[in-house]
Amino acid sequence: MSDLREHIWATPLVDTHEHQGKEHEYLQTPKDVLVELFDNYVTADLVVAGASPDAVRQLLDASDPDVRARFEGVEQAWEACQYTGYGEAVRLIARLAYGMEQVTADALEQAQREHSKPREAGERLRILREHGNIDHVQVDDFCWQCLPDDSGPEFFLYDISWAGFCQGDVHPESIWQETGIEVKDIGSLRQAMEAIFEKYGRCAIAVKAQHAYTRTLKWIPREDSDAEAVLQKALRGEALTQEEKLCLGDWCWARGAELAAQYHLPFKIHTGYYAGWGRMPVHYIPAGNLWELLATYPQTRFVLMHIAYPYNDELVALAKRYPNVWVDMCWAWSIDPYSAGDFFRRFLHAAPINKLFVFGGDTRLPWAAVAYATQARQGLYRSLQAEVKEKNLTEREAKAIATRVMRQNQYECFDIEGRRANILHIMRHEGR
Ligand SMILES: [Zn+2]
Repeated sequence: MSDLREHIWATPLVDTHEHQGKEHEYLQTPKDVLVELFDNYVTADLVVAGASPDAVRQLLDASDPDVRARFEGVEQAWEACQYTGYGEAVRLIARLAYGMEQVTADALEQAQREHSKPREAGERLRILREHGNIDHVQVDDFCWQCLPDDSGPEFFLYDISWAGFCQGDVHPESIWQETGIEVKDIGSLRQAMEAIFEKYGRCAIAVKAQHAYTRTLKWIPREDSDAEAVLQKALRGEALTQEEKLCLGDWCWARGAELAAQYHLPFKIHTGYYAGWGRMPVHYIPAGNLWELLATYPQTRFVLMHIAYPYNDELVALAKRYPNVWVDMCWAWSIDPYSAGDFFRRFLHAAPINKLFVFGGDTRLPWAAVAYATQARQGLYRSLQAEVKEKNLTEREAKAIATRVMRQNQYECFDIEGRRANILHIMRHEGR
């Protein structure tokens, strides 16, 4: 193995974005070879290749013991998408978790027979750490709550989800349950947001929003009085127009950006391509829509995710322009491995390399995260190797860059050690 390759495989990788379920959820996930291999982004490619959504549902239905029939329902589609980034990840899971060289009905039946042992406590952490050589993961589990995770308190760090607020969805009942504050106007809404950060800001690793799925990323500053009028309408139970939701959403998003800076939490934003298949309003998703937000909140660290695929170049330009922008290649190596490699090399020669994170898996199950981490390591190796070959870099420089994008930049941007200390302190003194 070359030195560079060995270095990339031996360096513990920071995983800045996952949706891994909690330990108890993982333990309830059926132990089923088809779930393990296919319950990830590849289902979208299967449907686009021609599998029916019903066949995909059956494929993932672990209550049906007929592994062969379930696989055969999507086999043709699988043959067409096994070479995509998502397909490659399926083949990696097959190889790494089951030692399976080819994904066939026979091999799947055999794997199901041989791997019937129930899931064990601690297995989730062990797979990620030992098989993925992952330093820690940052999890978005779609909620405000960020508490110490006793199945790996220094390993599983959590994001405060701000997606609902950015969409302009204000739910007085859940806010009251969480904070004891009754939202009556924009002032009490602001207090409630402060209370959420007060409660979870010390343990959280970041703030996260993926509202690009439901609205444009274009942000404009909003007056308190305009947001107040919309909020009062919402509190009266009246339906909001799309423009009104954008107004309240922008207002809430801005408060999140301010609080994130105050609590030293980077604000992560989904940009670019969607999970799933079908509907994707392409004007919502380019990262360039964010320019006014980035310019208005220079004290907030913004982490722009997924290379804004397919608006990759625009994101390089933003990273080159704004001191408060970091770029996260999470999920990109699996969406489109060649574009990701190309993006990495363009970024290296256009923007400061201390602003790039090379990996987040964006998965729910640990073996999928290991496969996606493998794709990121392979992609990083291919890109840096090409740079060395073209004599743009020495191998020594390439290794230093690998360390930077795999972990050093993340440790510089996020308060990882500080948050771990807070979590351990809370566990010790508050008995959580
Ligand atoms: Zn995600």
